[in-house]
Amino acid sequence: MKIAIDGPASAGKSTISKLVAQALDFTYLDTGAMYRATTYLALQQKIALDDAPKIAQALAKATIDFQNGPENDQKVFLNGEDITEVIRSAEVTGLVSQVAALPEVRQTLVQQQRQIADRTNIVMDGRDIGTTVLPDAEVKIFMTASVLRRAQRRYKENIAKGMTTSLETIKTDIEHRDYKDSHRAVSPLRQAEDAIVVDTSDLNIEQSTAKILGIIRQ
Ligand code: C5P
Repeated sequence: MKIAIDGPASAGKSTISKLVAQALDFTYLDTGAMYRATTYLALQQKIALDDAPKIAQALAKATIDFQNGPENDQKVFLNGEDITEVIRSAEVTGLVSQVAALPEVRQTLVQQQRQIADRTNIVMDGRDIGTTVLPDAEVKIFMTASVLRRAQRRYKENIAKGMTTSLETIKTDIEHRDYKDSHRAVSPLRQAEDAIVVDTSDLNIEQSTAKILGIIRQ
């Protein structure tokens, strides 16, 4: 069974998708982490971020792996290096939409995502899962929340990590990333026609998870 969860930045997709996958004993795939890993790879190898053929070449030689930890956490590895933290940095977050807009990069990653989904029951989250990666997914969710709620949640998480970016800056960054992700030429962020919208503005993590599990079990 395939479950597609799409939506804008910081809507809680990965937190909730992970919990949904755990409840169903399905594999969870964070496709955003794959685009982030590709961005990190280009930065690490000092490849210009608009040099699509070079990035695609480096990506073809690289391996991106996921490893589940004991606390329902998931670690991300690039060529064996643990990049879980570094791909969440402001630098990678600010540049990832540019790399994700490159058709050559999307082609490679979408192919890998489909191969993983062919092997197992899966909950996959991203921007184009219901529309492009798994158009035949049995359940498609479009998870969203007001931009203010999303920024507030990110702000709280940042404070807990000792980061001091203002709420206003976080909100502007989220808006810019959503704009770029929904205006690129290839498979932009879009709600699939047959997706069910889940607005988590007034729901906590438990309520959001329960709501999605309810939709899946209907
Ligand atoms: O989900 P996350 O915020 O980690 O995604 C990071 C970025 O990766 C997005 O802003 C988007 O540019 C890109 N992405 C994408 N398609 C996906 C998942 C993520 O283009 N399926």
